Amino acid sequence: MRIKDKKRFIIACGGLAAILILIIVVLTISFWNRNESQAEADSKKNTQTTATAKETDTAANTQTAAAGQSTQTETKEEIKTTTTENAAGVDSVITLVNKNHSMSANYVPSDLVTVDLPSTRDTQLRSIAAEGLTKLFKAAEGAGLELYCCSGYRSYETQSELYTWNVETYGVDGAELVSARPGMSEHQLGLAMDVTSASVGFDLLESFGTTAEGQFINENAHKYGFIVRYPQGKTDITGYAYEPWHLRYLGVDVATAIYNSGKTMEEYYSTN
Ligand SMILES: [Zn+2]
Repeated sequence: MRIKDKKRFIIACGGLAAILILIIVVLTISFWNRNESQAEADSKKNTQTTATAKETDTAANTQTAAAGQSTQTETKEEIKTTTTENAAGVDSVITLVNKNHSMSANYVPSDLVTVDLPSTRDTQLRSIAAEGLTKLFKAAEGAGLELYCCSGYRSYETQSELYTWNVETYGVDGAELVSARPGMSEHQLGLAMDVTSASVGFDLLESFGTTAEGQFINENAHKYGFIVRYPQGKTDITGYAYEPWHLRYLGVDVATAIYNSGKTMEEYYSTN
């Protein structure tokens, strides 16, 4: 190779190297840029994901809050419907339960006992009511009368079945007069007992009110803490037909005060 050619060769090599370097630089820059935009895209994606996650969280939180609020409303509603101006709560013996005041489906008194009295079947009451009823039965026995327990505590489910049976048998209007809707029965409170006697064939009949047993109850139940909850001629107030057999425990003081007032429980507490 001649010197001139050698020079040319070196120049050509240098040029090629320069071109190669340029290409490498361009490629590197291009690669760099791509990475950056990818990172940016990724970052954007992350932001979006975070935002979505946040939104979802917020939605979930809102839902939770809404659920909480509705639970609170329900709780408030429950308190409103299970507590009256006079009663502290569903466990209070003076709690009002009627067509406008209900209790929750899962309320079960914690102190139920099986009554140890003449009964047409095994039945339960809250212990304090059972004590009062035992004294009432003993007093009746002292007067030569024999009372029988018929139906005390009933669970929400039992009341539900009973109400459904009454609706199927008498229609809604008929059922409403003789049977409480589930959650609205004093029997679920464990503070009510239906009593009967041989004189009415151990049945629950209006005529029980005119029997010696029915009259004894009407005149003396309050002394042992009970009232005849659905008196004659008060259907427009209580919502129920006359039930001379349905006794509600309220404790001696309140039962006596209501008896002496001649009022129903609704009238006595000025509510409905
Ligand atoms: Zn009853």
